[in-house]
Amino acid sequence: MIEILNTAELARARVAGALVAEILRTLQGRTTVGTNLLDIDRWAQAMIADAGAQSCYVDYAPSFGRGPFGHYICTSVNDAVLHGLPHDYRLAEGDLLTLDLAVSTGGIAADSAVSFLVGTARPAQSVALIDATERALSAGIAAARPGARIGDLSYAIGTVLSGAGYPINTEFGGHGIGSTMHQDPHITNTGRPGRGYTLRPGLLLALEPWVMVDTDRLVTAADGWTLRSATGCRTAHSEHTIAITDDGAEILTLRS
Ligand code: MG
Ligand code: MG
Repeated sequence: MIEILNTAELARARVAGALVAEILRTLQGRTTVGTNLLDIDRWAQAMIADAGAQSCYVDYAPSFGRGPFGHYICTSVNDAVLHGLPHDYRLAEGDLLTLDLAVSTGGIAADSAVSFLVGTARPAQSVALIDATERALSAGIAAARPGARIGDLSYAIGTVLSGAGYPINTEFGGHGIGSTMHQDPHITNTGRPGRGYTLRPGLLLALEPWVMVDTDRLVTAADGWTLRSATGCRTAHSEHTIAITDDGAEILTLRS
């Protein structure tokens, strides 16, 4: 199902996007060497509750996971890239952490992810990895406007990722979003321009380029949720929820 939001729904989507952005910004600011992933989860839970919003994750139980997720945010460290289940782990200097958060408020969901390095270490490989996903996300957003096709966005994202030398996995990618977190259309992180659904005003999309240094293969961790690189290499992931407007794309989850 593809939803087209009306003006009132779009106003609520902006509220949801701003909330997700504010929570992620706050969590990134609080996270330091020694922070436990379970603390981040508790902080997210409290901020969602304080805002009177609803977690899209806590009861989420898709076919690819093991029962309800049971937590409020995805915390993926180093070789973990998607759906990282918060667990009792204290972050170390130089860890590459991805926080991925989806929250619903006013009946509309917003979804965003950010990767960053913990502490002050800036290992070059990790910096380059994060930079590639951020540039790919920007390229995908720049391609999003009324009349563009989903394939144009996939192509823009994939061109940056492959240009940076990373293999691209097409199992998981961006998606439509609206009254629920995951909707059609699926937006692979590489593709052919001029193909797929034609964008129009009122469409909400979550674009989410993610990469692993030297593989396109994922393995599921023993927790049944966390997806890791098959080779143990580092990974990164950047995501924004955008609204297609008459003028182009509006980023709803932009962190100030
Ligand atoms: Mg997400
Ligand atoms: Mg998403």
